[in-house]
Amino acid sequence: MGIYAKPDLDLSWQEFANCLGVDPDLFFPERGASTREAKEVCRGCVVRDGCLEYALQNGEKFGIWGGMSERERRRIRRQRALIRAEEQAEEQSA
Ligand code: SF4
Repeated sequence: MGIYAKPDLDLSWQEFANCLGVDPDLFFPERGASTREAKEVCRGCVVRDGCLEYALQNGEKFGIWGGMSERERRRIRRQRALIRAEEQAEEQSA
């Protein structure tokens, strides 16, 4: 599983992770290796959203989290940064 506890964060959702007991290497594939199997495990995971948000909030740079690769998470972070910048620009022009 791609989840390791940092102190003072609520990580109780991990108890329901679909990847409990699954080989962690699956979620940290070598560069260029397939992520399909890990994403398949994530697909049916009931805490997928929480897992993804945890990775986004904590800037996790490696591994599959919430069914998404590093590249996919980077795209979300960029989109969010753009939205924040647009909102700030709107606030300043109002
Ligand atoms: S979304 Fe994937 S990596 Fe995250 S807890 Fe669920 S199975 Fe594990």
